[in-house]
Amino acid sequence: MFCLGLKVTAAELMPFCQHTQATMNTFQEYQIPAVNSHSIAVIGSGFSGTMVAVQLLRHAEIALTVYLIEANSRQFARGVAYSTDSDCHLLNVPAANMSAFPDDPGHFLRWARTREKNLLNAPWVTDFTGNTFLPRRAYGEYLFEVLDKAERAAAAGVHLDKKIDQVIGLSIDDQGITVTLLGGERLQVQKAVLAIGNFPPCDPVIDNPSFYQSPRYYSNPWKPGVLQALLKTKSCLLIGSGLTMIDWAVTLNHAGYRGTIHTVSRRGLLPQAHSPHAPAAFNIDPQAAPPSVRTWLHNIRDYIGVTGCDWRTVMDALRAHTPQLWANLPLSERRRFLRHVRIYWDSHRHRLAPAVAERLAELLASAQLFRHTARILDYKQTGQGVDVLVRRRGQSQVETLSVEAVVNCSGPESDYRKLGSPLVNDLLEQGLINPDPLTLGLEVKADGALVNSSGGVSTGLFTLGPPQKGSLWETIAVPEIREQAESLAKTLLSSLGRQLPQ
Ligand SMILES: Cc1cc2nc3c(=O)[nH]c(=O)nc-3n(C[C@H](O)[C@H](O)[C@H](O)COP(=O)(O)OP(=O)(O)OC[C@H]3O[C@@H](n4cnc5c(N)ncnc54)[C@H](O)[C@@H]3O)c2cc1C
Repeated sequence: MFCLGLKVTAAELMPFCQHTQATMNTFQEYQIPAVNSHSIAVIGSGFSGTMVAVQLLRHAEIALTVYLIEANSRQFARGVAYSTDSDCHLLNVPAANMSAFPDDPGHFLRWARTREKNLLNAPWVTDFTGNTFLPRRAYGEYLFEVLDKAERAAAAGVHLDKKIDQVIGLSIDDQGITVTLLGGERLQVQKAVLAIGNFPPCDPVIDNPSFYQSPRYYSNPWKPGVLQALLKTKSCLLIGSGLTMIDWAVTLNHAGYRGTIHTVSRRGLLPQAHSPHAPAAFNIDPQAAPPSVRTWLHNIRDYIGVTGCDWRTVMDALRAHTPQLWANLPLSERRRFLRHVRIYWDSHRHRLAPAVAERLAELLASAQLFRHTARILDYKQTGQGVDVLVRRRGQSQVETLSVEAVVNCSGPESDYRKLGSPLVNDLLEQGLINPDPLTLGLEVKADGALVNSSGGVSTGLFTLGPPQKGSLWETIAVPEIREQAESLAKTLLSSLGRQLPQ
């Protein structure tokens, strides 16, 4: 049998034909459809992209090539969060809730137990239960293996094509989607998934940003070499007071740093710590939820006041309902939430592993880490380093922090117009994507389909994870993304070949 220039035997075709009884019945006359091998480009190979690829490989019953394209080789199958080399960087979710698969909650813990001996050598890993907070580096290894196994177990005709390259552009026409890589390659696919995740923080806005060009300034805390450079200094400033700042403060101390660490943030709030607690019977009917942030906060406070339960139980119980509660809020209320509540929400929702919280308390008590609730006004470079001019909250005088290096740990930038990514700029220019009105991510439909600048819903371009923050709010961590990855893979597979992308 000759199809599109390929000689194919009936036996070879068999696996691709099993999905419809009709094709089975008419096997002798089987014609390979116009597109005989489907292809999907997954752009970005952090947790989101890796797990979409894994789920496509697992569920595909048609001939399929999955291109998994990652710009940064260190981050392949790991992404920003799990490509760290440091065992001091712990997961902020307990092992029992970090399975890559929604239908197999114990998967990660079982994998980790096979590495128990190695993992117990990591700092602060003292036991091995579902409540243990394991190193993020180990989670990266786990993801790498998950992908490798899915590739090897894929059905005949289902292939993974791994590419280390940056996607710089994408165009759509009647033939499908053309994905352009920095290295010059062009891939022709039917569907593309933007799994581009977390972008580095933007520089804090000041009148004279020239210091941001200085070698003493590290705009991206996750760039290789930052730790080694900081260890050579006697003092440094970490901008921000969230999980990334704490990662760095704790890692520096563990690596033998004896210098002074300053941290500056506008509100000075630190993340709360995890602690074991019983699940709450906090009943929520998201459909009946009041469309008001203020009423919600009152309800939560009342519940905690009446029951005396740990606030963590309520935060955890809310989690599964947050997207629906968020969707019920009018835009003005979502804005109100971001203005007044976000900072408190983040510090209670994104919590620290208990061992890290203990180290942080020691650092603050030992006067190695100084926390300043202040705003950065300017930087003046000196022979030895840089004087950072700050104004404390509620005060008028300007103070100077003299340090040898500054690291921006202020959290990922989500305003797509500011990212400077060639791919994002290309998509914005063509109107193929549209930032959501709160600039938390992109406008997206419930199934992950991207909405273009005219309000049209794409049949070819999809996303998951952090870019959906504007529409879901709760969408940046493994427990949510693993569900999205599976359902997006199924959506893509079921729609392949039926529609041309727009
Ligand atoms: C430091 C840190 C620690 C975290 N810890 C936890 C945790 O313990 N538990 C938890 O549940 N969640 C954690 N998170 C949340 C995290 O967002 C998710 O768990 C998840 O890793 C997000 O994955 P992602 O693939 O969407 O994004 P990312 O990890 O950001 O991956 C996106 C990838 O896309 C690539 N990319 C971008 N643009 C292009 C392009 N044009 N071409 C090719 N490649 C491109 C990037 O290089 C990157 O590797 C953490 C996040 C961070 C930043």
